[in-house]
Amino acid sequence: MTQGWTKSTWRDRPRIQMPDYPDAAKLGTVEAQLQQYPPLVFAGEVRALKRKLGAAAQGEAFLLQGGDCAESFSEFSADSIRDTFKVMLQMAMVLTYGAKVPVVKVGRMAGQFAKPRSAPTEVIGGQELPSYRGDIINGFDFTAEARIPDPSRMLQAYTQAAAGLNLLRAFSKGGYADMHRVHAWTLGFAEGEKAERYREMTDRITDTLDFLTAAGITSENSKELSSVDFYTSHEALLLEYEEALARIDSTSGLPVAGSGHFIWIGDRTRQPDGAHVEFCRGVQNPVGLKCGPSITPDDLKRLMATLNPENEAGRLTLIARFGAGQVGDHLPRLIRAVEEEGANVLWTCDPMHGNTIKSSSGYKTRPFDSVLREVCEFFAIHNAEGTIPGGVHFEMTGKDVTECTGGLRAVSDEDLSQRYHTACDPRLNASQSLELAFLVSEELVG
Ligand code: PEP
Ligand code: MN
Repeated sequence: MTQGWTKSTWRDRPRIQMPDYPDAAKLGTVEAQLQQYPPLVFAGEVRALKRKLGAAAQGEAFLLQGGDCAESFSEFSADSIRDTFKVMLQMAMVLTYGAKVPVVKVGRMAGQFAKPRSAPTEVIGGQELPSYRGDIINGFDFTAEARIPDPSRMLQAYTQAAAGLNLLRAFSKGGYADMHRVHAWTLGFAEGEKAERYREMTDRITDTLDFLTAAGITSENSKELSSVDFYTSHEALLLEYEEALARIDSTSGLPVAGSGHFIWIGDRTRQPDGAHVEFCRGVQNPVGLKCGPSITPDDLKRLMATLNPENEAGRLTLIARFGAGQVGDHLPRLIRAVEEEGANVLWTCDPMHGNTIKSSSGYKTRPFDSVLREVCEFFAIHNAEGTIPGGVHFEMTGKDVTECTGGLRAVSDEDLSQRYHTACDPRLNASQSLELAFLVSEELVG
């Protein structure tokens, strides 16, 4: 066990971005209940994911991480899980083609409920109320009652995560994820009039699948063609929930976060002495660290030493999120800090959180072109530094929402009001997500 760590030592550290629950007795009851529930993931899966992320850090795999900014209780349905899963598989197939390595698929799903906020309160029409912090903490409605943190929301989040993960496991292994089916969906997209430029790639994938069939490798005899491994992830923000689901892995005797396969530390909660770093350092899951413009090389060195003292492969993923046009100002010095330490990390790019703007129609949005540009800058800098760009991290949904502008079926500022459904940040819709995968794939082919 990590020195001086227990699943509760985070409680001695500064507590930020977490609610102060008004009813301590109710909180205690919920925590006790969650402690009795089964973990959502098994430590063997967590270790398998860690090995795959270790391969991605070496350029032998590529990470695709994506899903909602904030999962919500009201939007939860089999259809929305299926749609996001489906578009992630399509993206993974296109990226596999470009990267020529296996794509590791990790959803921001089945646990992505808690949100850090830039301000503790919000003011609408002259009324000031506590900010919405995600459905696991309080309600989205702008009323004083909804905004009171309620511990019983943790039980609903657990139930939703368990049901969602159950469906994801069924889709992954039950035939839905068959590569031939996934490719057929993508063909439909590339046959669209505006997507012609992607047809060459889909034609080549068709040829490859035909060749495999001719050679006798089919969905009936190959599990690589007929099923996928799909993992879950979320920001480990609400530490009462994380602590209650932490378990001791009976195989290794080590603590493991049972709330999801991969957990990450947000850009607002990565203080080296803070509660979130303290909790994450002691569990054996792969851990992500968001790196925004304010992180210094010294902070990063300290965080790497704290979060990955053994320099284990696949343990630490650095998720760079600087904003288009700013990657060159920040990434090179961080890459050098990593190289100076000889640290084993997986570098991935989150081109969402540095590119949020307010549109002329008043909605928070992200232009597709800025998202693409940040990814391209991330690749170019790694290529120049001789280091490995090992993955991408998107806020996206399989639904046809209008939250980010641009893309093939150009969403304009005026369109945003049509289907703006996110509980927090704007997501790429299905078409924008797949288009981005094609463009990143072209980038990977070089
Ligand atoms: C997020 O991933 O939704 C998020 C809040 O990101 P960051 O911590 O990078 O701002
Ligand atoms: Mn977000």
